[in-house]
Amino acid sequence: MKLSKEEKERYSRQLPVLKEKGQEKVNDLKVLVSGVGGIGGTAAEYLVRLGIGEIRLLDPDTVELSNLNRQILYNKDDIGRNKVDVAFEKLKKVNPNVDIEPIPEKLRRDNLHEIFGDMDAFVDGLDNMQARYLANKECVKKDIPYFHAACEGFESRLTTIIPNETPCLNCIYGGKIEIKEKEYEPTVGVVPGKIGIIEVEQLIKYFLDLKGLFKDKLVIFDEKNIKPRIIDLRKKKNCEVCGSID
Ligand SMILES: [Zn+2]
Repeated sequence: MKLSKEEKERYSRQLPVLKEKGQEKVNDLKVLVSGVGGIGGTAAEYLVRLGIGEIRLLDPDTVELSNLNRQILYNKDDIGRNKVDVAFEKLKKVNPNVDIEPIPEKLRRDNLHEIFGDMDAFVDGLDNMQARYLANKECVKKDIPYFHAACEGFESRLTTIIPNETPCLNCIYGGKIEIKEKEYEPTVGVVPGKIGIIEVEQLIKYFLDLKGLFKDKLVIFDEKNIKPRIIDLRKKKNCEVCGSID
């Protein structure tokens, strides 16, 4: 749909980069963000400011005091409320043009199909591998790009999974690369937000066919030493999920 006068002004700083056609494409995107915390909450805010058409926010948790060092959507008055409800209220004020659907649930085998629905993209703000593997399966099945990020301490990691093209999450972590699984990941406040923003950059590049999409590789940023470590990814032979043969 053509941009309105309000949209032309709202997006005037990015239109020279994205062009009107690009912005119109962005306006039609439907994005599922699962986990609306340090990574996903920051990604959600930038997706809404960017002007995507629809965002589905999924998180079963309520706001806690210990979230406030890194989860920028929330403040002290929100403690005890559902994160997705607070996020909905805040983000609607940022950009009422975006359809925002808050779902206070976690990804489960029995709700996966409905929650993914007709979404165009999946943004990973999750904090556990079980849910990530569920999302990965559904993305491969429905041919939806999966924007993966995670962090711990001063370290964050990122890749973009394009079904039927790049290795899937099971190819990556079902093989030699490890990701630690704990009750929660201790991290320094600034680290998750930064990687959440890069997920959104990847999403823009993917959907607007811009150069520089980071795929087939996993980057692990060591923020202490400003050192990115880049690992070339390969499809897992006979992967149980994407079924590709090396
Ligand atoms: Zn795979």
